[in-house]
Amino acid sequence: MRMLGLYLHIPFCEKKCIYCDFYSVETTDHIADFVQTLQQEIALRACFLSQHQKHYNTVFFGGGTPSLLSAHQLDAIISCLHKHFSFADNAEWTMECNPGTVTRALLNAYRALGINRLSYGVQSFFDEDLVFLSRIHSGVQALDALNMSREAGFENLNIDLMFSLPYQPFDRWQKNVEYAISLGVEHISAYSLIFEHGTPLYSLYKRGQVRPQDEKHEAALYRWTIHTLTAHGYEHYEVSNFAQQGKICRHNCVYWHGQEYVSFGPSAHGYIYTEKGFIRYWNIRGLKRYTDSVRACVLPIANYEVLSLYDRMVERVFLELRSQGIRKQAFYQDFHIDISDALSSVLPEWTHVGLVIDTPEIVRLSPEGYAVCDSITVKVLQLVESALNTTMQSRVA
Ligand code: SF4
Repeated sequence: MRMLGLYLHIPFCEKKCIYCDFYSVETTDHIADFVQTLQQEIALRACFLSQHQKHYNTVFFGGGTPSLLSAHQLDAIISCLHKHFSFADNAEWTMECNPGTVTRALLNAYRALGINRLSYGVQSFFDEDLVFLSRIHSGVQALDALNMSREAGFENLNIDLMFSLPYQPFDRWQKNVEYAISLGVEHISAYSLIFEHGTPLYSLYKRGQVRPQDEKHEAALYRWTIHTLTAHGYEHYEVSNFAQQGKICRHNCVYWHGQEYVSFGPSAHGYIYTEKGFIRYWNIRGLKRYTDSVRACVLPIANYEVLSLYDRMVERVFLELRSQGIRKQAFYQDFHIDISDALSSVLPEWTHVGLVIDTPEIVRLSPEGYAVCDSITVKVLQLVESALNTTMQSRVA
């Protein structure tokens, strides 16, 4: 089924976390102005989209810290969205929340405004980890936020948890995961800490003040996590993501299955079909330049690229192998390649040793396959590229 997603980037944080390279400014001063500008961008962009790109299945407020918006500001943005776009009755509306910024009243307002999924950046329930990561909340605040969300009626909660922190012993990570399971959260995103260039964490690393955990330790944590979460009924549906039945994040699936999404806000990326073909655009990153552009009634696009058939195919393989697998029929419809034929030289061996699961509908990685996802992806790309070349040559002939 075709899906269409909508993303809004809210670029404010109370304080930057040392590992984060997402675009956000460390202030709450300009939020009211930004809410006005964002509404202008929504109206402006709606004029440029075709009708089919106005009926949405998923909406995601990300950032930054969207939970810094007041209920009144969020109401204004959502009303503006409803004015310019239409939404499926069962659309997924996700709000990213920082546990240090939510209140009972705010959570009740989210429900009243139609938000039906919350995604909390918890990272850890232990204050030692949270201080190291320079998060603004404590473990107790994270628990309170989750409890208040349940009391407000939310039945679809994600928490992000981060493993392989430099000073985190194995058993502290295990307790984090076990705690999340005992709380019954419907969705868990388990990421290893990345030392991104340009972050304070990276500077600490360059100065020799922190050392990443070694790869063997990280691989052991990851394997334990997969084993534990799947044993407790969570579906491992993407390298880092686990969900209870019926609770996969539909918005993420829009990205991972090559579906279109429209994005708003500074630094946001969109992927849409236009008269030029499929394009990826990215908005201006700086808040001031973004605001100036929108106020001048110019779409705040920093740049865009037109994706060739080959580009789209590479992305599809890369993203689907990391998630729920390559959907054979959709892949054939979009690229005229029979994926079973293209991979016929490797599939029997990979399925025999348990790296890959091959059904009439999909080819997907097994839990063991996820651990060597990169090397499998490289081989799959070689084979589908060769199949694409053959298809193109036969068409020319
Ligand atoms: S709160 Fe989120 S967006 Fe803001 S700095 Fe921390 S990780 Fe980044």
